[in-house]
Amino acid sequence: MPELPEVEVTRRSIAGGLRGARVLCVHLGKPLRWPLGCTPDHLVGRQIGEVARRAKYLWLPMSPRMGDPGSRPGGLLLHLGMSGSLALLPEPPPPPGTHDHFELRTTRGTLRLTDPRRFGAVLWSASLASEPAARLLASLGHEPFDAALTPEFLHARLQGRRAPIKQVLLAGDVVVGAGNIYACEALFAAGIHPALRADRLSRPRAARLLAALRDTLGRALALGGTTLRDFRDAHGMSGAFQDEARVYGRAGQPCLRCGAPVRRIVQGQRATYFCPRCQKR
Ligand SMILES: [Zn+2]
Repeated sequence: MPELPEVEVTRRSIAGGLRGARVLCVHLGKPLRWPLGCTPDHLVGRQIGEVARRAKYLWLPMSPRMGDPGSRPGGLLLHLGMSGSLALLPEPPPPPGTHDHFELRTTRGTLRLTDPRRFGAVLWSASLASEPAARLLASLGHEPFDAALTPEFLHARLQGRRAPIKQVLLAGDVVVGAGNIYACEALFAAGIHPALRADRLSRPRAARLLAALRDTLGRALALGGTTLRDFRDAHGMSGAFQDEARVYGRAGQPCLRCGAPVRRIVQGQRATYFCPRCQKR
């Protein structure tokens, strides 16, 4: 599943190419998770602005339609779902394949969404503060690198949360971006047991967790995200973070810090990997 670093890597790889591009035509494949919410013609003639990201959503802001005085600005909210990837292809693009379900042909190349499992989404919204974007973004926690997310704030937000810290991280309503791999790795780096009740995490340990999460996500970004099966960024590159994982996917292998066997447990139907000796409750 594409996680926040993969989505940010995707954003960086398409933003420069799409900035200022004008939409020429739209091709829809099979239905995605939700309908587009407008006709393809509604997008034609619009100019794309600076591609932004909020959590795992990408936002392509668009100008009003050229030559249509009644047209208002808006944009497309994109989500890669379980298996989606975006590519900005130079002209002429190869013909769409069976898993290509959304395509924006522009004056600066073709943006194509490939999504075999079709849990991805492309949605028209008048703005991020309007429906349907507002509803989808409403319960999201802070961005991990947001300066307003301080250790004190994180610690305060964990009070009253009785669920295991790993599951609170995955829920994404305190901080976004701690997907399964990154949550496991950050908890290992911070020496925190994944089953520790979130509201039992001390303030110094909350500070260590935040630093570890930022370090983990920062390294993943620098490496171009994690390759999980079919993730590719818009230039067809694959990530390298999975080679960096210290506990994720290493059940039974020796902990790289202490040598104890890495354990695998299931929390909330997701696999958790941790070192029972280095990570304390
Ligand atoms: Zn260990």
